[in-house]
Amino acid sequence: MSGIGDCIIGFVKKALFADFIKGLNITLKYNFSKSITLRYPDDEKWIPHKRWRGLHTLNKDDKGRELCVACELCARACPTNCITVVPMEDDTGKGITDRIAKIWTVDIVRCLFCGYCEDACPTRALRLGRDYELSVIDIKGTFKTKKELLQQKDIPEGVEGGVIAKARFVRTDDGIKVVADLGQTKKRKL
Ligand code: SF4
Ligand code: SF4
Repeated sequence: MSGIGDCIIGFVKKALFADFIKGLNITLKYNFSKSITLRYPDDEKWIPHKRWRGLHTLNKDDKGRELCVACELCARACPTNCITVVPMEDDTGKGITDRIAKIWTVDIVRCLFCGYCEDACPTRALRLGRDYELSVIDIKGTFKTKKELLQQKDIPEGVEGGVIAKARFVRTDDGIKVVADLGQTKKRKL
């Protein structure tokens, strides 16, 4: 009996275009709702939350000394072997000890952004930062070196994130770069 009942209901629904009207209703609803599209990168830029795992950063202490002591624990912890650390002696005060990294590279093509390396670092020299714009034109650019990773970060570690910032274009030695104006941010409305 219920089989016949379902059949009749199905026939009535088809005759009245019920599914079509349901779909149209959803489409019309979105037509009149506010757009949540981000105008990236020309006008707006997303600032990820603090917990974001983006490109690695190598950090310094308050006195400007490198925190990395080239212990290689990050390289050992990495499941994809994408970190290379070569230690060297340095008594010029560049680092917090007289052992610093001569070479520190990460291959971001092989990186899973799992954060194991960050967890293994005993001096908090290594953090996964908030840079998510990692596309490159040349494959060699996927190897990020110590020099690049030690550079000042666009978004300071203390910034909470999770907001949209006004984008600004700035001319650098490497070409035009889009930077986020942290003075002009807004929450994303969903
Ligand atoms: S985030 Fe994971 S995969 Fe990437 S370098 Fe660190 S340990 Fe390796
Ligand atoms: S980044 Fe941290 S774990 Fe990796 S070599 Fe330097 S001090 Fe050791």
